[in-house]
Parts: sequence; C-alpha cells; structure tokens
Amino acid sequence: MSNLKEKLLGVWKAVKHEFTRLDRTCNNCGREIFGGDTVAEKYFCKDCAENLPFNNGFVCSHCGRRTVAPTELCDDCTGFESSFARARSPFYYAPPVDKLIRDTKFENRRYLAEVLGSFAADTFEKNFSDADMITFVPMSAKERKAKGYNHAELICRSISKLTGARQEETIVKVAETDRQARLGRNDRLKNLKSVFKVRNKALIEGKTVVLTDDVLTTGATAEACSAALIKGGAKRVYVLTIASVTDPKVARALGQETGGIKNSLKKRARKLSKNAERKPSDKKRK
Ligand SMILES: [Zn+2]
Ligand SMILES: [Zn+2]
Repeated sequence: MSNLKEKLLGVWKAVKHEFTRLDRTCNNCGREIFGGDTVAEKYFCKDCAENLPFNNGFVCSHCGRRTVAPTELCDDCTGFESSFARARSPFYYAPPVDKLIRDTKFENRRYLAEVLGSFAADTFEKNFSDADMITFVPMSAKERKAKGYNHAELICRSISKLTGARQEETIVKVAETDRQARLGRNDRLKNLKSVFKVRNKALIEGKTVVLTDDVLTTGATAEACSAALIKGGAKRVYVLTIASVTDPKVARALGQETGGIKNSLKKRARKLSKNAERKPSDKKRK
C-alpha cells in the first residue's frame, strides 16, 4: 500500500513539475521566463518575444497580407471577387511562428493552439467585434479520425475562451482533398467547390461569422468555406488565421527573413507564376 502511495506521489510530482516547467519556459527556445505584461512575454522569453513576426506593418485591406506600401489591395486581391469581407492575422508566416504552427498541426503539441490563439484573440477584438459567432475550417471525418484532433478547432476554442465569442461548428467537410497542396489557387478553388457544406442554415442565417484557420496561404480554403457560409445564409464572413504567407515579391522587398519560410514561399511563387500564365478572365474566383 505504501509502495502504491509512493508511486502515486511520484507521478503527481512529475506532472506538477511538467506543468510548472511549461508555465515558465519560452515556447520557442525553452529558456526560463518570468512573465511580463504582454501576451508575448507571457509565453516567450524577452529575446524571442521581441523577434516574433508581428503583422503590424502595411497590409492589404482585404486579405491582410503584408504589403510594401499603404495600398488598398494587394496584387492577388485585385480583380478577384471574394466571399469573405476581410481576413486578418496577428503574424506573417515566418520563424518562429511557422514552426509553432507546424508543431500544433503535426507534432501533437496541442497546447500551442492556446499560445497562438492568445495573439489571434487580440486581432479578433481589434477587427471583428461585430461578429455574432466564431467557427473553424473543418476536417473530413477520415482526417479527423486519423489525427485525433483538428488544430483549427483548438485555435478557435482558444479565441472563443479569451474573447467570449460564441463558438459554433458551422461547416462540414464532405470530401477529401488529398492532392490540394500540389494545386495552384484556381485549381484549388475548383477542387474545393463542393467540399464544404453548411451544417445548419438556421444557425448562421443573417449572422456575421468569423472563420478561423492556422495559415492563410493562397486563401482558397478560406474562400471555399466562406462561399459555403454565404450560400448558407450568413450575412458576412471574416477570416482570422494565426499567420498569413507574404507574397514572395513583397517578402523580398521587405527583406523578410526566409529561414523556415523558404519552401512555402517557393511553392507560392510557383503557384503565382502558374496563375499569371492564365487568361485574366480565368482569374475570377467565382
Ligand atoms: Zn525564447
Ligand atoms: Zn490581398
């Protein structure tokens, strides 16, 4: 009996140690932190907090991606019809946020959704205070079963908890999109057209909905989900992601660090050059 007691005590100590350790170490470099006044200093050491890729320079008024100068619309958004009113993200996709997002998504570091969601909650309050509810990009039943969780749902939950915004599961993903990553934006849009369906029209009828996801890359997923929500009766859709991928040309002009971002930028550059080869009439989103 006393052996069991000792064992239990040992387990409890290990758990307690793990929790207090997580509480006091930087989520990027692991150094000990003592907490500060800002959200960044709560989760990161001073050095890492200062170097987070905050998306607080000039942005496109529609997609929220970084722009070089104060312009109304970025090249990507010019001439496109979009189902969402606007998209915003607290970060642009660069180290260390890119890795933190990948870890949330693929490495089962689910608690990072709360860390990243804290920054998105701030963006929510600054931009989408007129929203009626907050929702997330769904996974298909198969994807969800394979992974055990939906990172977008966890991010959404974190924002909802911090802002008090009502969280609703509004969309279902009814088909698989395995080859999505290899497609350009127009093909992605075509591919996604019948993938998302609204669960309950009465829930979103006439409502302003905030859609959350991890990263805004080409914007095709956000567009497809927003289109489904608008078609289902929503009045307005906003998109809130943790980060947005900067246009490669803009990134170069801004001297953006391209360590972990290099591959996604390269991919995006390929997509954009593919799109540029198309006739302008093909560029319409709908
Ligand atoms: Zn650090
Ligand atoms: Zn834009």
